Amino acid sequence: MNRVCNFSAGPSVLPEWVLKKAASEMINYNGSGESVMEMSHRSPEFMVIIQDTEKRLRDVLNIPSNYKVLFLQGGASTQFAMIPLNLMIKNEKADYITTGQWSKKAFAEAKKYGNVREVASSADKVFSYIPDVDQIKFDPSADYVHITYNNTIYGTKYNKLPNTGNVPLVSDVSSFILSEPIDISKFGLLYAGAQKNMGPAGLTVVIIREDLVLTPQEATPTMLTYKTHVDNGSMYNTPPCYAIYICGLVLRWIQEEVGGLEKMKEINEKKAAILYDFLDSSSLFKATAEPSSRSLMNIPFVTKSADLDKKFIEQSKISGFINLKGHRSVGGMRASIYNAMPIECVKKLVNFMEKFEKENA
Ligand SMILES: *Cc1c(COP(=O)(O)O)cnc(C)c1O
Repeated sequence: MNRVCNFSAGPSVLPEWVLKKAASEMINYNGSGESVMEMSHRSPEFMVIIQDTEKRLRDVLNIPSNYKVLFLQGGASTQFAMIPLNLMIKNEKADYITTGQWSKKAFAEAKKYGNVREVASSADKVFSYIPDVDQIKFDPSADYVHITYNNTIYGTKYNKLPNTGNVPLVSDVSSFILSEPIDISKFGLLYAGAQKNMGPAGLTVVIIREDLVLTPQEATPTMLTYKTHVDNGSMYNTPPCYAIYICGLVLRWIQEEVGGLEKMKEINEKKAAILYDFLDSSSLFKATAEPSSRSLMNIPFVTKSADLDKKFIEQSKISGFINLKGHRSVGGMRASIYNAMPIECVKKLVNFMEKFEKENA
């Protein structure tokens, strides 16, 4: 069986261990005589699956007991509205740092629901860096501060978190979660679409501090109310059952095969260094993110011209490296090297780039 090297930003590569395990359980899960896809979400079998997935997530991320874990749908994009609807309720104000397309979308959505300020932005340099968080003046009466931890399109990530005092810090961690350890207690709320580093599309994970589960703005739909999902253990309606099951397997893979998030981080640093070291020494290719803000998960790069970029993307595809095209809004190339990306693929990609550089010098 030939697997390609899939550098997609999401949905993205999953660990082969997970795919094989799921395949072996596809038709008859654990002696139940049915597939997880066919199970009632209220069945005892599925209750075990969702509880086990939550427990593994709590263990892997070291989530304190005063935080709730929610398994929702609607993607990270639905959270752009759900967060202001549920959290912008005391002073109806929030501060946003914009570091890319996703944070801009989150910011624009929140504007519909209250007084939202853009307190810092890296738009002046095409989002190639993270603003100095120590220079930012946050509003102490804001209901929350929103950041995008890892910027999937521009390949940047925070290496230092803003100090927001008593104002809850809210973060989109779609392309960051599970890539390295994180101190959950520094946040009021974290959210992630699962399709980057946790499993297949269709599942959105929210981690919310209990005291932020409040009565939302007036006329907030029941389904967009955190309290609904907290009160019903993510079972107010049918949850994305199969995606939750696969997420549980991904977490098991991190625990049993990788050995936890410290180990995961080591591997991710090693993988990213292979690519960054090459990019920094290349006379043709160049990484676009500033070194101090570089992501371990998404690595955008360019050659000297759009024509060469195009040629590179075409040739890479033929050689078994897929989805290296940069986001449609920025062009160039991007290698997303999430947890499940085998190190061999990154090494092979660098070899391929070396060859391309020689041929196109
Ligand atoms: C992919 C992504 C999104 C969008 O996620 P959906 O689940 O498609 O809504 C939002 N934020 C970040 C950081 C992302 O990487």
